[in-house]
Formats: sequence, C-alpha cells, structure tokens
Amino acid sequence: MSIPFIDLKTQYKKIESKIKARIDKVLNHGAYVMGPEVSELEQKLSQYVNTDYALACSSGTDALILALMALDIGPGDAVLTTPFTFFATAETIAFLGATPIFVDIDPETYNLSVNELKRTIQAIKNNEQTLCPLPANIKPGSVSLKAIITVDLFGLPCDYDQITEIARHENLKLIEDAAQSFGATYKGRKACSFGDISCTSFFPAKPLGCYGDGGMCFTNDQDIIESLRSLRIHGQGKDKYENVRIGINGRLDTLQAAILLTKLEIFPREVMLRQQVAERYNQLFEQLPELVTPQVPADRTSVWAQYSLLAQNNHQRDKILAHLKEKNIPTAIYYPNPLHLQKAFDYLGYKQGDFPISENIGERIFSLPMHPYLEPDMQEKIFSLVKEAV
Ligand SMILES: *Cc1c(COP(=O)(O)O)cnc(C)c1O
Repeated sequence: MSIPFIDLKTQYKKIESKIKARIDKVLNHGAYVMGPEVSELEQKLSQYVNTDYALACSSGTDALILALMALDIGPGDAVLTTPFTFFATAETIAFLGATPIFVDIDPETYNLSVNELKRTIQAIKNNEQTLCPLPANIKPGSVSLKAIITVDLFGLPCDYDQITEIARHENLKLIEDAAQSFGATYKGRKACSFGDISCTSFFPAKPLGCYGDGGMCFTNDQDIIESLRSLRIHGQGKDKYENVRIGINGRLDTLQAAILLTKLEIFPREVMLRQQVAERYNQLFEQLPELVTPQVPADRTSVWAQYSLLAQNNHQRDKILAHLKEKNIPTAIYYPNPLHLQKAFDYLGYKQGDFPISENIGERIFSLPMHPYLEPDMQEKIFSLVKEAV
C-alpha cells in the first residue's frame, strides 16, 4: 500500500455530499460561465485576504498574465523575479515579450533575497555588469525596469515590509505570486494582499485547490480591477460586442467556483491542520541534525504548500529519495533546475554559477508528503525511513 503525496480523496470524503449539492445547483441553474458562484467566490476570497477586489480566472498562470497585462508590461520592459520557482512565474513575463531578470534567493527562506534585489536594481540602473549577472540583452537604456514578481515559496510569504519599500522607492510595481501561499500570513496580514496585484492558483495540489484549473487576482486599485475584468473577457468594453483592448479568454468555470466555495468552508481548519502536521515534522526532524528543517521567521506563518528538507548534498538526497521510494513513500523535488538554467531561457544568456544559492538549494532540497490529513503514525514512519537512509 502506498500513500498519496497530497491526499485529496480523504478531503473529498469529508465534503462529498456538500460538493455534490453545490455542483447540482450549478447544473440546475445552468449558468456554466460567469454564473453567480463566481462573483460569490470573488467576494468571499477578497474578504478572506482583506483586499478591496478579487478577480477569478482560469489558472494561476493566467492570473499572472492578466496582472502583467493590466500593468501594461510587454516588449522593452523588464521584470525582476526569482529563479527558484515554478516555471510559470518567469514564463508569463517572457510570454508577454518582456525580459525576466533573475535575483538569487535567501538561503533560509528560499524567497527572493532583499539584498540581492537591491544589488540587481543598482546594477541595472548604473549599468554595472560586474555587480551581478544580468541577461545578455540588458544594455544601457535597452529595457525599462517595470516590476518585481515575488514568490511566496512553499507557502511562506516574503519580507513584504522591505520589498514594498524597495518597490516604492524605485517606482516599480509589485506582483505577489501567491500561488502557494493562499492562507499564510505576514505580520498578521494575509498572503495575496501585498502586491499592487497578487495572484493565486487553485490547481488541485495547492493549499486551496479546485477540481481542475483555476486562479485569482487580488488588488485594492479600482482602475486595475476594471482593466483585469476587461482583459479576462477579450478586452471587452461596456458589453461583449465592444472590445477596447486585446485580452484573453481567462474566466473561471462556475463549477470550479462552486467547488471552491464548498472547500472554503473547511479551509481555515485545514490551514490549522497543515500547521500541526508541519510542527510534528519539525519536532521529529530536529532530532536529525544532518538535515535542515524549514525556517519560518517569527513575523509570518506558512500554509505549507510543501514541507521541504535540505540534505547535506546531492548524494545524500539521492540516498534518502531512493530509500523512501523503495518503501512506497512518495517524494518530490521542487525545484531541481533553477529557471536561469532552463533551456527555454537560454536566450537570456545566464550560465551555471550565476545564482549559487538557488543552484545549491536545488541540488539538496526534497519534499515529503504534506496535507491536512497526514496522521502522526505515518509521519513517524516517514521520519524513521529518512533516518535510516541518512
Ligand atoms: C502553481 C504555480 C503557478 C501556476 O499556477 P497554475 O494554476 O498551475 O497555472 C505559478 N506560480 C507558482 C509559484 C506556482 O506554484
């Protein structure tokens, strides 16, 4: 018998009748596209994260695309972001014709390093190529630095006081990629509330997941939400046969909104359970000093999209993963290849060694099964197996 990496079946069993009733309601009213559940979800989630507006859309990737489009980012523009993230974070920048500029991460939180961020901005402003690695096409005046996309990696928010200050000072827009952090907090404020636009994902494996693809943008800016609403539906104007800009078809299905509304009812409890599961892992793995447990600064909470440990080196990680695999315990590596080394970004001209922290963490990190319903017995078993391998 093997266990799942993320146990969506146990969750489904708990809410099965409510999910079915909600789906039934949609099938009966028949508003499959932009039905009442979509605006109900937008209203409930903006309330949850405490922003003025929310816009449901077709995926976390489309949320990022809509956010970049609403901020008018395209060819000739550059956006700072981390190379230690899911591909979509930087893909969307490049997809719109802008240039991603990578900034290395903090070795403890794995989030964008504030010092490296400052250094990279200086390097671009003063054209000091020696200060840090820059994409090959960055020449004085060749790009205009427009925005920062932060990523709340594994569910842990970034240091938003510092990052917001830098963005304000440098006149850059901030997009928070909160695909993994819906439900987390920084200084008592909820993730998804820190960017000029914040984006999340409802991919099934995320902390709040639907049964397909889905995403959301959050903002406090009325002009931005109006642009987002238009961009989501083919750049529509006053009605659907007036088009005032080029947009996309980026709507969230009513059925997915109905599923999310049901899951939202148990979400606060699930966040608490996730934190208990992570705490139990922490207590177990503190007995194993060979591995580094995840660090959560005192001013924030993680929603534990992943529980990730650091091995001492690549060889030790291989040994651990092989042993767990043999015992039918699933594991994952987020992320083995930092984005600056992905083939798709060859054209940026980055090379091995450019972002040493991201590269080093990528060689050593691995993630264990993580979900609200993971039992203490199973966690102890997983711990003993890791210990044997170490
Ligand atoms: C999952 C994820 C995305 C993309 O979300 P989708 O809904 O899969 O399109 C973007 N950024 C990060 C950091 C993610 O983890």
